[in-house]
Amino acid sequence: MARRGLKFAGVVLLGPPASGKGTQGRLLAERGELCYFSTGQELRREVERGTEFGMRTARYLSQNRYVPDEMALELAMSWLADAGSGWVIDGFPRTRTQALELDDSLGDVAHRLRTVFLDVPLDEILRRAAGRWECGRCPWVGPSDELGACPCCGGALVRRGDDDPPSVRKRVAVYEDLTLPVVEFYAESSRLVHVSGVGSAEEVFKRVLIGLEYDDEIHG
Ligand code: ADP
Repeated sequence: MARRGLKFAGVVLLGPPASGKGTQGRLLAERGELCYFSTGQELRREVERGTEFGMRTARYLSQNRYVPDEMALELAMSWLADAGSGWVIDGFPRTRTQALELDDSLGDVAHRLRTVFLDVPLDEILRRAAGRWECGRCPWVGPSDELGACPCCGGALVRRGDDDPPSVRKRVAVYEDLTLPVVEFYAESSRLVHVSGVGSAEEVFKRVLIGLEYDDEIHG
């Protein structure tokens, strides 16, 4: 797929659970005509499909743990191999090992990777997760009242099974332990764009575009 607006090879979205990675990822992919992939969403799909990979995944997700690096790498690398020249990925890399493998596979263009870190404080994360719904039919995710239909396609809205406060706290702890070192890793190599994730999706998106020096005139 052609890349528009970005001078970077690919964009990684990093941030705590419910920080808005999926929302920002989809907005960016739409704007820049980029391929978009969410490892978390794909892992949940594999579980729903009942594949062998999904069955191995289920026990990690039900315990709010990360899947092993080999599994995350298998999923993300096979997608990246087909993604072409411009992509945005949400939820990968999530560990230092995954980040090193990604750099390895990018080789010469690794320095042209950018990571957007969506910074959201814990109290806001818990509040968002408690009010988060997703569409069973299309990729829409957002706040809604319980009886609402999807504002995008009218499909039925469902709660994510792992958005209760104890599960979110557990995922935050795992994130701080395993993913904050990845944030540091990209900061050290000057590939981190630090963005406040607080505010409306549109406000945050403006910051993301500024941070990435996005320019519609650039054609990849
Ligand atoms: P959240 O950001 O709210 O945790 P995601 O949808 O991004 O939600 O991910 C859901 C879960 O999928 C994670 O908590 C983790 O268990 C698993 N997962 C997603 N990406 C990875 C990865 N790169 N490595 C290991 N586990 C992953």
